[in-house]
Amino acid sequence: MFLGRAGPSAAKAGEALMNPRIYFDHSATTPLDPRVLAAMGPFLGGAFGNPSSLHQEGRAARAAIETARAQVASLIGAEPEEIIFTASGTEADNLALIGAVRASGRPGHVVTTSIEHAAILETCRFLADSGTKPGTKITRLPVDSDGLVGPESLLRALQSNVTIVSVMAANNVVGTLQPIEELAHLTKLHGVLFHTDAVQAAGKIPLDVNRLHVDLLSLSAHKLHGPKGVGALYVRKGTRLSPIVFGGGQERGLRSATENVAGIVGFGAAAAIAREELAEEALRLARFREQIAAELRRVLPQSYLFGHPVHRLPGHLSFGLRGQEREVGKLLAALDGAGVAVSAGSACSANHSSEPSGVLLAMGFDPERARGLLRVSLGRFNTQKDVDRFLEILPGAVVTLSVSRDAVAELKFPSATLAAGALA
Ligand code: PLP
Repeated sequence: MFLGRAGPSAAKAGEALMNPRIYFDHSATTPLDPRVLAAMGPFLGGAFGNPSSLHQEGRAARAAIETARAQVASLIGAEPEEIIFTASGTEADNLALIGAVRASGRPGHVVTTSIEHAAILETCRFLADSGTKPGTKITRLPVDSDGLVGPESLLRALQSNVTIVSVMAANNVVGTLQPIEELAHLTKLHGVLFHTDAVQAAGKIPLDVNRLHVDLLSLSAHKLHGPKGVGALYVRKGTRLSPIVFGGGQERGLRSATENVAGIVGFGAAAAIAREELAEEALRLARFREQIAAELRRVLPQSYLFGHPVHRLPGHLSFGLRGQEREVGKLLAALDGAGVAVSAGSACSANHSSEPSGVLLAMGFDPERARGLLRVSLGRFNTQKDVDRFLEILPGAVVTLSVSRDAVAELKFPSATLAAGALA
């Protein structure tokens, strides 16, 4: 093969080295932290034992899982034996709701919100439609235009017989944090179980299961720089829960199957790092967010932010562009082409990004506005340079959309970002 002059691919590689891609989609998933990968390494190689085996290989795997269990527990102030490893955040959500309803021995009544992730909403649909007749009663609490659940609506719902209340800690689309402590406290006063889906919140904001009064809490490793395909459900001691996966009785009988040892070890390492670095990292990401929000206001006056202005995830920002709501797919593609990965709504609904977001509709936005959400979510390896470059690229990408010349003329772009021919 001819290996002479550097060709176009070498030029491309050189360009990529000069301008590495900017990954701003950490709410969808996060890159594995190299320290996590290093911790997992032995369990993808020589340390292959089955944790249920009694020999040395098995005992080594068991010990690694128990270390990870303690690390994950420590992230949320739980006892290690209260952590049940699952194959995902989705499975943890399924186990919490289906497990609680089955354990109650009745069709039951699940109270949740109108802005939960599909892992909760679809599980509720399953419970309502399946098996017993009548199916489980489902109440979806409304949210306000910031995405907050009001305690009054929860109190009203608690007047009837409720099996479990499930409210997410942080919303994946708009980043709003719910007042979990208050909602769980009210729920517990009525003697009802409380579950929170903390998949987006864990590792980003402090979480303590005892301060929050929660009985069940879902986690997912890949949202905190751990591996994909590993989750956990915190189950408070004494909580009655039925399994949804049956077999050899692993994980205290609540999640049969040979454990994903390397994945669980990675989850443990990721949880330990997140706990150690959380306070500083939250401040750093919140500063980046504020810089992006301020610059949006300055250079794109047609932009507006979604979600609660204060009670929100630190590195998460969702916005729309007035009059350009239908162009969000084009904007995403333009940014992608310019080296920036962002998301339109949640990863799970990315294929339907032209559809109005169910979360925004529930927050009271009209279908037009609800189509136009762009989500920027930052993470551990993002730098000030990434933020500055994104802010250079964004206005130029917006100009390439099919806005009228008049509308563009009104915008105050820094002249350098108005690429020649962009309005053609
Ligand atoms: N819950 C929330 C709030 C999420 O954002 C996600 C993933 O996007 C999940 C649950 C599902 O987690 P997993 O991807 O581990 O199944």
